Amino acid sequence: MSKPEHRYLPEADGWVPAARRVPSPNFDERPAGMPVDLVVLHNISLPPGQFGSGDIEAFFQNRLDPNKHPYFATIHQVQVSAHFLVTREGELVQFVPCTQRAWHAGQSDFFGRARCNDFSIGIEIEGCDDLPFTLAQYDTVAALVPALLAAYPVRAIAGHSDIAPGRKTDPGPHFDWARFARQAGVAPGMLPYQCPGAAGQVTNP
Ligand SMILES: [Zn+2]
Repeated sequence: MSKPEHRYLPEADGWVPAARRVPSPNFDERPAGMPVDLVVLHNISLPPGQFGSGDIEAFFQNRLDPNKHPYFATIHQVQVSAHFLVTREGELVQFVPCTQRAWHAGQSDFFGRARCNDFSIGIEIEGCDDLPFTLAQYDTVAALVPALLAAYPVRAIAGHSDIAPGRKTDPGPHFDWARFARQAGVAPGMLPYQCPGAAGQVTNP
């Protein structure tokens, strides 16, 4: 694992100094004593396929304008969040402290463990299933993840599509897991869905 940059390390309250804070009300307590042992990678764009509108932040703060785009009228009352967003420019935004439960995974299953929100940290990467991510985004995700691994007993990193197959497709076919792993310095065993034969650290409880 790469040695994390200090400013990416979460403080005791779960906030990361390197991140711009945009607090979301969409979170609650993790179950008592629940270790944070999974990182989930997502993609998101609002409106779909468009970048830089500020609407992701609005969505996670329950202030999406239903009249701005037809799609927004269908989702503006949905209360969701993630801990982090990495913009196309590589800016890190944080909505929920890592110590709390963000609402990013929905119905999900990690090797037989349901409700992945209970024990995971969610990172949204601004993007879609049809376009490559930016190099700046890989840089930021690769800086953040080693810091999360240093701060919490994370055992694995998964895509949303891995833990909600058939329901979710993100981070999608353009997310380069090999590049991410190389840049972040994470071992193959940390990517049980990408390297099934190497998943020595993941057991089915
Ligand atoms: Zn997702």
